[in-house]
Parts: sequence; structure tokens; C-alpha cells
Amino acid sequence: MSPKELTKVDITNAVFKEPIEVLKQISSNLEDIKYTKVIQTFVMEDRRLNLSLENEGSTYFKGKIVWIGNKKDESEGTIFCVDNKNELKQINPTAENTEKIILDLKKETIKISTASKTKCAVCGKNIEIFDDVIGCPLCQSKAHKDHMIDWVRMKHSCPVCKKSLNVSSTGVIFID
Ligand SMILES: [Zn+2]
Ligand SMILES: [Zn+2]
Repeated sequence: MSPKELTKVDITNAVFKEPIEVLKQISSNLEDIKYTKVIQTFVMEDRRLNLSLENEGSTYFKGKIVWIGNKKDESEGTIFCVDNKNELKQINPTAENTEKIILDLKKETIKISTASKTKCAVCGKNIEIFDDVIGCPLCQSKAHKDHMIDWVRMKHSCPVCKKSLNVSSTGVIFID
């Protein structure tokens, strides 16, 4: 490998898996990045690590990572909370909205190449990186979390496979 290649680490699989895997990649490659673990969330101490979202090579969002944590429903994957100076944004990279995630060691940046590959099974619009996503436990169809929960509450079934589903008070969809 050339020195140039060594400055970029593909962390796509780690991000799709869980936050602890992402932190392993960060701390083995960027040793002096500090964080504090608060239950399941890793709070970045000096906000040095950047995050950028790119589409077809151009950056459309960037900011400093505030914390890296689990999804609220504890499904697989990682959420990044990013401060872009105006607001705190939560970013949910999944196979539905993300091509590739690179840790750029020189720039101390996590670069996410986004792509809308999947449409919501309820509203038909693209699932984007800022959207909370949920899947049918039977057919794995994906939808915006709010849309799927509203649908299942009303119809008690999946919009795609039509099998019986229900939703718990904590927003977990289960087979009825
Ligand atoms: Zn939707
Ligand atoms: Zn289904």
C-alpha cells in the first residue's frame, strides 16, 4: 500500500454494526482522540473529529462529532450526533442511504458518501441520511420510522407483505 492509502480507513461495516466497533477504529488509528463512555454513548471530549456528508464527490453537510451512540431501538447500527454550528443533527447511516464511510486520518474526518437507494414503504419518498429507519421484522421492507409506526398502529399489518404486526409502547414493531 502507498502512504496515501494508509491515511484512509474504510469503516463502513463498523458503522453499520455498532458504535463500539467505530470507536475501536478511531482509537486504533487516531490515538489521541478522547471520549467518555456514558452508558451506550461515547461523548467526544474535544470535538476534534469532523463528519462530512458527500454525494457524488461534493460535500453538502459538515460539522464536529458531539457523540457516537446506539440507535434508540437498539437495532444494529450507529448514530452520530453532529454540531454544524447552527444545530445538533443526528445522522443515521444505513445500507439504505449510504455507499461508503471513510475515516480520513489526515483530516480527522469521517466522510460518509450518501445515496438514496431505498424508498419508504409507506410514503414512497427516499430514505435519507437524517431519517430514522425501521424495517418489517418479516419481509425486511424499510420505511421512515414514524410512518411505519403510524401505519402499523392503524392497520396492524405490514404495508408490503400484509402480515400481522403490532407496535409496543416504546416503538418496537413486532410480529402479532
Ligand atoms: Zn415515509
Ligand atoms: Zn413486511
